[in-house]
Amino acid sequence: MSDLETFRSETRSWLEANAPDALRGKRNDPEAVPWGGRNPNYKYPECADWLDLMAAKGFTAPTWPTEYGGGGLSREEASVLDQELMDLELPPGLTGFGLSMIGPTLLQYGTDQQKQEHLPNITGGKIRWCQGYSEPNAGSDLASLASAAVRDGDEFVINGQKIWTSGADHADCIFMLTRTETSGKKQAGITFILVDMDQDGVEVRPILLVSGASPFCETFFRNARAKVSNVIGEINGGWTVAKALLTFERNMIGGMAAARTSLPDLGAEYLGRNDDGSLADPILRDEIAQMEMDALSFGLTVQRNADAVKSGKQPGPESSMFKYYGTELNMRREQLMLSIREQQGLGWEGDGYSTDELVQTRAWLRSRGNSIEGGTSEVQLNIISKRVLGLPG
Ligand SMILES: Cc1cc2nc3c(=O)[nH]c(=O)nc-3n(C[C@H](O)[C@H](O)[C@H](O)COP(=O)(O)OP(=O)(O)OC[C@H]3O[C@@H](n4cnc5c(N)ncnc54)[C@H](O)[C@@H]3O)c2cc1C
Repeated sequence: MSDLETFRSETRSWLEANAPDALRGKRNDPEAVPWGGRNPNYKYPECADWLDLMAAKGFTAPTWPTEYGGGGLSREEASVLDQELMDLELPPGLTGFGLSMIGPTLLQYGTDQQKQEHLPNITGGKIRWCQGYSEPNAGSDLASLASAAVRDGDEFVINGQKIWTSGADHADCIFMLTRTETSGKKQAGITFILVDMDQDGVEVRPILLVSGASPFCETFFRNARAKVSNVIGEINGGWTVAKALLTFERNMIGGMAAARTSLPDLGAEYLGRNDDGSLADPILRDEIAQMEMDALSFGLTVQRNADAVKSGKQPGPESSMFKYYGTELNMRREQLMLSIREQQGLGWEGDGYSTDELVQTRAWLRSRGNSIEGGTSEVQLNIISKRVLGLPG
């Protein structure tokens, strides 16, 4: 048996022996994925045990170094772990901006002390993070941000406002961009800093959407404080760190789309079939086949890039291609699902719709926001033309 096969068999046995019954078969239920934090408030209390068990094995951050609570696994082993979790329809051990954004950024730019302080709290799911980039007057033009951080001894005093802060109402800490210099080039006066949300100077107001949900917030800072030791990178050098984090975010968003390679088999339920078993509607049949081929090719391209990164290539502006194509693919996928389900894909509530159909309506609407978060599709196209293709600005 190869090492990888041994790893697969041991991992499978461990998962089968340890996964809580309540979470089996719940892989697609977002509430079954532990998000961690000081006050996690789970729908399934077993999420807390699952997080602890997975964290103790290093399986919450499988490829991170073991000294920070990671699993120290190779990419191949990590993908075996993921396959086994999928096979058993189990949720991952942890999700969140700690793992996908600030953690990888700390691994690249953090000092030893910052890594020791923050990374084990991320892998152990002790702290839940949110992202403070956008402001009312700084979205696509992020470098225009104005939230000010003024030095006071070994602390910074922060005043300003962030907006669209996803999950800020549940977060323990925020990684944020602040203005520390107003003269000169605007990119050169930005500092990237970690701030504890549990203080009087931070106020979070959830933004109520028409759906009744509040996935993001306005976040106000009034004389909030953060230690100078929580600056990542150089003071006034935060733009470099901010861009690196965006590449992780964009790769993550693109990667999520790449993981969804095939559509659920809805043919029998919603569409007629020919005698030979093929779908009766030739146009939808063609669109489904095209969609699946594009998704598969995209998945392989994302995989190729991930392998190159593993071999030492630094993630760069090409993450914009993954973000752009992945989110466009996601919108196409949801639109296609809607075409297949017709009016059954447009239900919001009520007995006339199955749970899957109600989830589909929300996923279709959510896919639009997917093309905006992490930088809009238009902004990604600008980056691709300028920094990947080298076209004149
Ligand atoms: C679901 C979701 C979650 C989010 N979560 C967070 C979060 O956690 N933290 C956070 O900080 N932010 C978050 N955001 C905010 C997101 O980063 C911004 O919405 C995004 O960067 C766009 O900024 P804006 O909304 O100010 O739009 P604007 O920048 O005002 O853009 C408006 C329109 O103009 C277009 N446009 C702007 N500039 C150009 C240009 N140069 N060339 C071509 N077209 C252009 C844009 O593409 C867009 O269509 C989230 C957004 C969404 C939708």
